[in-house]
Amino acid sequence: SKFEGKNQYQIYSPMMNVNSLKMFTLKNDLKKAIVNEEFLVYFQPRINPKTFEITGAEALIRWKHPKWGIVSPNEFISLAEETGLITNLGEWLIKQVCKQIMGWKGRKLNFKKISINISSLQLFQIDFVDKILAIIKEQNINPQWLEFEITESVIIDREEQVLRTLSELKNVGISIALDDFGTGYSSLNYLRKIPCDIVKIDKSFISDIEVNKETFDILEATINLCKKLNKSVVIEGIETTHQLSIIQKLNCQEFQGYLCSKPLEEDQYIKFLQKGEWMSRGTE
Ligand code: C2E
Ligand code: CA
Ligand code: CA
Ligand code: CA
Repeated sequence: SKFEGKNQYQIYSPMMNVNSLKMFTLKNDLKKAIVNEEFLVYFQPRINPKTFEITGAEALIRWKHPKWGIVSPNEFISLAEETGLITNLGEWLIKQVCKQIMGWKGRKLNFKKISINISSLQLFQIDFVDKILAIIKEQNINPQWLEFEITESVIIDREEQVLRTLSELKNVGISIALDDFGTGYSSLNYLRKIPCDIVKIDKSFISDIEVNKETFDILEATINLCKKLNKSVVIEGIETTHQLSIIQKLNCQEFQGYLCSKPLEEDQYIKFLQKGEWMSRGTE
């Protein structure tokens, strides 16, 4: 390939070797892993910052690799996109989440809704909406239990087709969230174009908020703008009680973050749900 020439400048390091070996084997193992269903879904709670009620959860994929153990999506989603396998993997995940929430429904758990990350390659599929409709019907799912998280990158290509797909999903009753908001090149333009119900503000804004007054001002103005546009706001990456107290002053509807919980395996998330709401650990 045209990139091969780059390797000649690589300096040998044992660390790099392990990493590139891992990447190489992951890429090779991916197809087989989808057939063998080596993946797990974790759930990270979403919380109302004022009442501490659970508002739902985000589904986050993990690969339980026979050799490497639990592999993070940051290590394999891009490989799945490069190889085109993301469409199969993404479909597996949607089905899996639907099966799991039907189990929760059977146990009368009040899970509210689950959001699922959707890659742009999935949205580019001409029959994506049909596939979703088939899964919803087969699993007997209420579409209002589902939210799809997309990023700005989805409409860089095939804008018309993607916008049509998104409004069809909305018409079915699935909410659309614009993920990682504020990190792209033309967020405001996308906010205008993408028919989303929810805006998820990227965690890089939060990590900076305690030290940078301008970050706070941008966050506050963004939330006001979303309110004016009738969009609900989720703030990601809340790690400290101080960050929580800052966002409690703002008009945001939900937050996620390690302060409340890391992404949990299904049985742990069920335990979390059964508590009914998140208990703040008081003055820490
Ligand atoms: P994302 O969609 O922005 O998901 C949020 C990421 O932030 C998750 O990482 C989550 O564990 C992490 N996070 C949550 N709270 C905190 C916090 O307080 N502090 C910090 N530092 N991080 C926090 P995760 O699970 O490793 O996922 C990474 C990315 O992989 C996701 O970013 C998403 O882009 C992608 N991804 C995950 N699951 C899927 C999937 O099923 N399909 C697709 N297409 N992409 C996925
Ligand atoms: Ca997300
Ligand atoms: Ca995000
Ligand atoms: Ca992301």
